[in-house]
Amino acid sequence: EHKQTINFGAGPAKLPPSVLLQAQNELLNYSGTGISVLEMSHRSSDFNKIINKTESLLRELLNIPDNYKVLFLQGGGSGQFSSVPLNLIGLKEDRCADYLVTGTWSAKAAKEAEKYGKVNVVHPKLDSYTKIPDPSSWTLNPSASYVYYCSNETVHGVEYNFTPETNGVVLVSDMSSNFLSRPVDVSKFGLIFAGAQKNVGCAGVTVVIVREDLLGHALKECPIVLDYKVQAEMNSLYNTPPCFSIYIMSLVLEWIKNNGGSAAMEMLNKQKSSMIYDIINASNGFYVCPVDTACRSRMNVPFRVGKKEGNEALEKEFLDGASKRGMISLKGHRSVGGIRASLYNAVTLEDTKALLLPLLVIYVLT
Ligand code: PMP
Repeated sequence: EHKQTINFGAGPAKLPPSVLLQAQNELLNYSGTGISVLEMSHRSSDFNKIINKTESLLRELLNIPDNYKVLFLQGGGSGQFSSVPLNLIGLKEDRCADYLVTGTWSAKAAKEAEKYGKVNVVHPKLDSYTKIPDPSSWTLNPSASYVYYCSNETVHGVEYNFTPETNGVVLVSDMSSNFLSRPVDVSKFGLIFAGAQKNVGCAGVTVVIVREDLLGHALKECPIVLDYKVQAEMNSLYNTPPCFSIYIMSLVLEWIKNNGGSAAMEMLNKQKSSMIYDIINASNGFYVCPVDTACRSRMNVPFRVGKKEGNEALEKEFLDGASKRGMISLKGHRSVGGIRASLYNAVTLEDTKALLLPLLVIYVLT
């Protein structure tokens, strides 16, 4: 018996089936050109239409103000860990940047920034990534070039439900794993970046939204392909961009638009994640999510089975039960173990409901 596969992967992640079908339909002959987007010159007028359409859809979906540039770059989220300091740490002479370190990804970003300037971690070091220190405990440096945070920590399932107040210092956010999962007031940020492979497409392209006045401050050793000013002036075409990934993003953005935009995504994502957290909360400690309730991620739900540290036999039983029902990629990140269900935009309510069955089955049987 063939069961439909449900992909709960943390990224690359599920894409809307209609997007895949459209890409398939257009693969051999894109819009009457007789060729595939994979084979198309990035300087052709056809590709120009694709990249411009992708940008205008993003501007529309996020209400991006006119004084922001939108870039489509290679190098992934990790490429931005170095691009951000290379471009922005020189905004002020001190070359100092404030970092909030609330999980694996912000920790990696802070470590990379140390190569280019001084990094100040604004709160006491966390011994586990399960909470966001209260803003009253942060010591922000008023002469920092920028304040950096990761709005959703994919590995630990820690998500900000507020925008940090920086008292005028440029705010930078890694939104790789919750981009377009809810509305965001772009005007509060100096820079937002996000890899596409979770909520808005496939691997290969990273979106950068950057306020114009921040361009032109790159360190002199900044590689030219990472220089936001150069890429902004060239409409992300200084060199060959990830053309096909940009095309896939345009299809996903259209899908988001047709499904109600970022506000509709937010409602859906809240509903989906609540279903899982409700079961965890009602399980009398059988399922354990270590994350503070105030910052539990709507995108990545990490939990242990059986007890706080996880009962490996029961976790295997859960994964086997899920796998028998066609559900894949539910294993927690190798650094934390346990289970992680990622519920990005393309994961439907029905997909999420399906997960309740294997959750209830071992709960009831144990
Ligand atoms: N930031 C976050 C929040 C991520 O989840 C990831 C990847 N999972 C990255 C950065 C790194 O992205 P990439 O693998 O594209 O370099």
